[in-house]
Amino acid sequence: MVTIAATFPKTFTALANGKHVGTDETATSKTWRYEALTPMPTYDFHVSAYEGWNVESAKSRSSIPVVSYTYTSGKPKTKSIFGDLTKALDFYESEFGAYRWGSATFIQEPIFGGGMEHASVISMDETLFTDDDTSEARAIAFHELAHHGAATSSTSGPGTISGSAKGSPST
Ligand SMILES: [Zn+2]
Repeated sequence: MVTIAATFPKTFTALANGKHVGTDETATSKTWRYEALTPMPTYDFHVSAYEGWNVESAKSRSSIPVVSYTYTSGKPKTKSIFGDLTKALDFYESEFGAYRWGSATFIQEPIFGGGMEHASVISMDETLFTDDDTSEARAIAFHELAHHGAATSSTSGPGTISGSAKGSPST
């Protein structure tokens, strides 16, 4: 469980684990406040901020918000990569039980390649959005979301979001 207050220049949009509970504004900056009430390991804490995000939002059958943040250049691929995530979440909930992280956010950002499942915030490497064939990116998005369901059936204990693949990016 974590609360985050992230202050950035006003032009940036910041996001972090959990629910966006408010934004305070000064003449030059904004402080974005997020709250995640589900226990999670510290390696899951994640903050991102960027000035040019394209934001798209959908909801699972159980009303979990599934939101994607992509670059303008990544926007044309958003639907084919992320468009079926609510269906994937519906399926995972039917197999593993209720999703317990409140929201699922997917971000295009400069990481090491592949994806990483920070609890409720999933990093997707920016280069996944340049390939005409989106099947790899799509598979990674589904894979990272699946980590969030594994905890309910895993033996790795409370507060972890994966079993044997814990902390292993894109494995
Ligand atoms: Zn994995």
